Amino acid sequence: MSKYNFHSHTKRCGHASGEDEEYVLSAIENGYKTLGFSDHTPIYGFTQPRIRMNEGQIIDYTRSVNSLKEKYKDEIDIHIGLEVEYFPFNMPYVESLLKEGEIEYIILGQHFYKESRESELYLYDENELSLYVDHVIKGIETGLFLYIAHPDHYGLFYHRQDENSYNEAKRLILKAKELGIPLELNISKLANNIRAEKDLFFLVPFPIEQFWKLVGEIGADVVLGLDAHTPLAYYDSPLEWADEFIKKHNLHVISSEEVIARINKIKNNLALK
Ligand SMILES: [Zn+2]
Ligand SMILES: [Zn+2]
Repeated sequence: MSKYNFHSHTKRCGHASGEDEEYVLSAIENGYKTLGFSDHTPIYGFTQPRIRMNEGQIIDYTRSVNSLKEKYKDEIDIHIGLEVEYFPFNMPYVESLLKEGEIEYIILGQHFYKESRESELYLYDENELSLYVDHVIKGIETGLFLYIAHPDHYGLFYHRQDENSYNEAKRLILKAKELGIPLELNISKLANNIRAEKDLFFLVPFPIEQFWKLVGEIGADVVLGLDAHTPLAYYDSPLEWADEFIKKHNLHVISSEEVIARINKIKNNLALK
């Protein structure tokens, strides 16, 4: 299967480093055939420096990625997307970017929640696992998302693998399977480091074994994502570790062609709306 990554950031979010072109060159150097940029989405009318770009930066983002797409078209297939939280009030803005063709796809990365333009922006706490799952499900029910980025991101605030997390994981995975939404096995270097450094476990405690065991049993589709925040991610992401993990849990990983077919399907559905 040819190497791909649809989860790549840029320095516009304020916590990633490197030039856009360096991401492309690193990906080419490491044999990737497909690269999708999916930097953290703007929230219309609300800024969050060091977390996401603001809406004024979209033009520069699309201009830059589109020129790289053209420049390197013989070497790598480049796509442009955004990593988006399901904030109900922000979805019309994101949908308009998709509709106007500024961006091709969105992936669901539910790091925070914010119910309305006026409300606060919150991090989930350990009593809010089912709220997190509710938000993810509402997100994928919009039919706009390509896949769910790090669906087991709840490991950041829910530190146990118990009956409750089993039931909530199952609810999320069954819904993804029903709607045909792939789940991203996030293999960011950061996550790998954390696995090695047990004492830092709570910083990025995913992939969660209990979650991925269930994904294998339920048979939902899986995509691999590097979550690159530096061009170096293309050099040192733990692909061998990922292979082992995929075998261990009998995960069904889809190809870049299948991912792109989903991008086109969502685009067509949107045009018909
Ligand atoms: Zn990020
Ligand atoms: Zn993320």
